Amino acid sequence: MSHPDAPAPVSGRPVVLRGGTVLTMDDSHTVLTPGDVLVVDHHIAAVGRALEVPEGTQEVEASGGIVMPGMIDTHRHMWQTAMRGYGADWTLTQYFVWYYLEHGRTFRPQDVYAGNLLSAWDALEAGVTTTVDWSHGLQTVDHAEAAVDALQEVPGRFVLAYGNIQAGPWEWATDKAVHAFLERRRTGAGDLLGFQLAFDVTGDPGFPERAAFEAARELGLSVTTHAGVWGATNDDGIRLMHEHGFMTPETVYVHAATLGTDSYQRIAATGGSVSVSTESEQSAGQGYPPTWQMRRYDIPVSLSMDTSVWWSGDLFSAMRTTLGADRSREHLEAHARGETVTHTHLRAEQVVDWATRGGARALGRNDLGRIEPGARADLVLIKNDRSPVSFPLLNPYGHVAFQAQRGDVHTVIVDGRVVKHEHQLLGVDLPAVRRTVEATVEHLRAELGQEQWSRGMNPELPAGDEVLDNPYQYTEFKSDSTHGARGSVFGEPGSGR
Ligand SMILES: [Zn+2]
Repeated sequence: MSHPDAPAPVSGRPVVLRGGTVLTMDDSHTVLTPGDVLVVDHHIAAVGRALEVPEGTQEVEASGGIVMPGMIDTHRHMWQTAMRGYGADWTLTQYFVWYYLEHGRTFRPQDVYAGNLLSAWDALEAGVTTTVDWSHGLQTVDHAEAAVDALQEVPGRFVLAYGNIQAGPWEWATDKAVHAFLERRRTGAGDLLGFQLAFDVTGDPGFPERAAFEAARELGLSVTTHAGVWGATNDDGIRLMHEHGFMTPETVYVHAATLGTDSYQRIAATGGSVSVSTESEQSAGQGYPPTWQMRRYDIPVSLSMDTSVWWSGDLFSAMRTTLGADRSREHLEAHARGETVTHTHLRAEQVVDWATRGGARALGRNDLGRIEPGARADLVLIKNDRSPVSFPLLNPYGHVAFQAQRGDVHTVIVDGRVVKHEHQLLGVDLPAVRRTVEATVEHLRAELGQEQWSRGMNPELPAGDEVLDNPYQYTEFKSDSTHGARGSVFGEPGSGR
């Protein structure tokens, strides 16, 4: 039995998670309370109660915790994690200016490497065992090599979605050097690394993106595309894709927030799925998080975080904000009709499904996102005996969606290998990662100069943000000087309360 300082499991030996609440996410969403999960080599060997295990199996005490499939993020610009938090107050406008027009070019291969390395560990630490690296900063093949090098240094499951915002997709996706790179890095990459092509469809009637879709088809890769992004991509792009026969079940439409009925029906009819990035859509301006639309058209959903230049890199936030946005809209619309919502449509169980099975489906991986014998062993144990938030554990889906956070991720297993144990990532040299990222930040800051750097981080406030006239008059109140205000509910300093 493990205890607070149990040694980390040794690679190559079977592992059993004992006595947790197991959210299997199988086809009937079976929940075992409690249950065991046995991992042998790369797969889940057994799920059940009081499992008999092979000799030498390492035990992880999961009682009081939740065992769930590893989470899957279908859209994350990992290279941008090198600029973590820099764009917290941006809209899409500042983002486009910064990355697309002005400064994306200043990223060298080692900077893409730095961002990816940090982002990959960030994902694993939060129990995101599969991440699609929507890598649109690959200006040269050297950048792409660096991106993959970083992903392969971290023991997670990753999909490099190859992209390059500095050139048209009809240019880079048909480049022989890019094809040679993809062939080379796919060969022998194993099950932990996959590839997609990542590009957007502008709606140009000439449909220049056709060449890129044909390249993807030739390479046998699926396409992921930002679709339905206010001011950037619209129904024309979807229509062109459909008319030319490039909408397939494995196509992933990111955001899909501002499309019309016709586009949603084309997506639904061709079997594609939508990657919803609620935390992103809520503040950047792609459009309202579209889960309510997905429900109407019966389009499969996966979740994603988009970019840590603004937002978090954990899917707990994605699940939470997605529930909040969907319910908020439902209430707001009802109130506008003078009605009251008494039963919400979107449930915690559904967002846990999207964070696991939904991602697996989007990537065509039926052996991920579920805890069943024969599935790949990507698992998360949420358990934190030191936290008052860990009990009572009454509604496990609700607990995952609204109560848990990355600090509660106790154990993470990817492809049968324990990569986080007792809340500690295994095999990471975080000081070295930090130095790598600091060198990138230093380079970018030097390229921009201090003034531009500061201006980029602090966009101007629009004018006209005035407080309305109020017929009632406050006395002795100033909203900007409430510190130390009279009438504080706390005692005066030194009053000996
Ligand atoms: Zn994106």
